[in-house]
Amino acid sequence: MKRLVVIGGGIAGLSLAYSIREHQKPGQECEVVLLEAKARIGGNIRTEKTGGFLIEGGPDCFLSEKPWAMELCKRIGLEAELLMTNEARRKTFVLSRGRLHELPEGVILMVPTKLIPLATSSLISIPGKIRMALEFFIPARKEKTDESLGSFVRRRLGAEALEKIAEPLVAGVHAGDPETMSVRASFPKFVQMEQEHGSLIRGMLKRMALGRKTHKPGEAGRKRVTMFVTLRNGLSTMIDELGKRLLNAPNTHIRTDAAVAAVVPRDNGYEVQFENGSTLAADAVAIAAPAYAAGALLEKMDLHLSARLLNIPYVSTATVSIAFKKKDIKHPLNGFGFVVPKVEGRRIMAATWTSVKFDYRAPDDSVLMRCFVGGAKNAELVLLNDGDMIAMVRQELKEIMGIDAEPVLARVFRWMNSMPQYTIGHEERIEAIEEAVERHPGLFITGSAYHGIGISDSVRWSEVVAKKALHYMFGG
Ligand SMILES: Cc1cc2nc3c(=O)[nH]c(=O)nc-3n(C[C@H](O)[C@H](O)[C@H](O)COP(=O)(O)OP(=O)(O)OC[C@H]3O[C@@H](n4cnc5c(N)ncnc54)[C@H](O)[C@@H]3O)c2cc1C
Repeated sequence: MKRLVVIGGGIAGLSLAYSIREHQKPGQECEVVLLEAKARIGGNIRTEKTGGFLIEGGPDCFLSEKPWAMELCKRIGLEAELLMTNEARRKTFVLSRGRLHELPEGVILMVPTKLIPLATSSLISIPGKIRMALEFFIPARKEKTDESLGSFVRRRLGAEALEKIAEPLVAGVHAGDPETMSVRASFPKFVQMEQEHGSLIRGMLKRMALGRKTHKPGEAGRKRVTMFVTLRNGLSTMIDELGKRLLNAPNTHIRTDAAVAAVVPRDNGYEVQFENGSTLAADAVAIAAPAYAAGALLEKMDLHLSARLLNIPYVSTATVSIAFKKKDIKHPLNGFGFVVPKVEGRRIMAATWTSVKFDYRAPDDSVLMRCFVGGAKNAELVLLNDGDMIAMVRQELKEIMGIDAEPVLARVFRWMNSMPQYTIGHEERIEAIEEAVERHPGLFITGSAYHGIGISDSVRWSEVVAKKALHYMFGG
């Protein structure tokens, strides 16, 4: 029986293994062995429950616009668990000149789609608003080369939109620096809109109009899918369910504490060499570990490919979940949280008001928040010990929101080298990596370093790779 070895037990590796089981046809029976270096599967996805709180250490939701994670949840029986955001409180705030200002309603990512909220916003200055509105008339860029997100936003919407909206929103999601980030790899839809419609505002308005037209009658009564979606009992539910289903599938094994040291070619296939010196033969290998780990694994086999993988930069972040008694918070909690522009010079990148954004996250008398630390801006802060990091976060919340009370809970999660950075030229580099991978038949790579940094993209790409692996092993 053929054997596929999957290296990495994060969502990419798990969904790849599960996708093999979903797509294999009769006659395509194969053994699937998933190897995870740590004691637990799930990678960045980690939910903890304590004292009535539900804490997400890493990701806390996925984007519904990218449907693959939600579709996977439905296929593994978790549809009833899907949890929408509390739309009545759907507001985001931006710290500017030391105060929280509402992100004007209708600003989608960084593109304004409603005139009045933008005109009356206290966040952007009058010249800044005029400059944003002028986006409508700015001709599309002629060159086809990649561009930094910073340059793209400055060119289309102006410097203030970059400083107060795009930069902090992007730091909150990608933990990245817009001056080095590739707009084509990170926001391909915006580049497409500029090319197709000549303007982001025009493109966005057309897309919204189309959305209204294609809204089928009868849909009104159905539960509306919000922009961010999570699982009622936390994202680990997805990991647990995938793990359970894989363990119940024939010829499928999950091995934890199984750190792989190298993959080398052997007898028309591969030999997987473990850090403890043992080996495992494979007909095909799919590496779903971070790019730098994949680079290290392939060093003996292909130095050139290894170097390219090692070249994809990563940054480290930490999340600090912190809870207070409701009565101790005087600041209104009328939104999902706030983001912090770099120019404010603060030590947190963003804070989510978790128990406002989603139900079932905290006891009724408490509020759960989550602050983001580190990233491209403040990498050294991730190294603070737990006590110092919690003290630093409390000081920041005191200065920004006036919270002076003792927290009822504080929990730090560090994510070292966990956020791949899609820097300018990313797409060309990934193309070169994939060409090099194809020179090794039966070798595959997947994960958040290549075609999208979020959970949904990882799921989608792993499904593509699973089909390729089946095709390699069985043809057809
Ligand atoms: C703090 C934080 C917040 C985030 N928030 C969101 C969010 O809200 N929504 C969203 O969509 N995305 C979010 N992301 C991104 C999301 O976490 C990733 O897209 C996704 O989890 C990546 O999954 P993966 O399987 O590719 O990688 P990982 O989760 O990193 O899994 C890779 C696995 O490979 C294992 N491994 C490494 N080396 C070896 C080896 N040599 N041998 C065996 N195993 C090995 C690792 O131990 C790990 O378990 C966030 C990320 C972070 C860090």
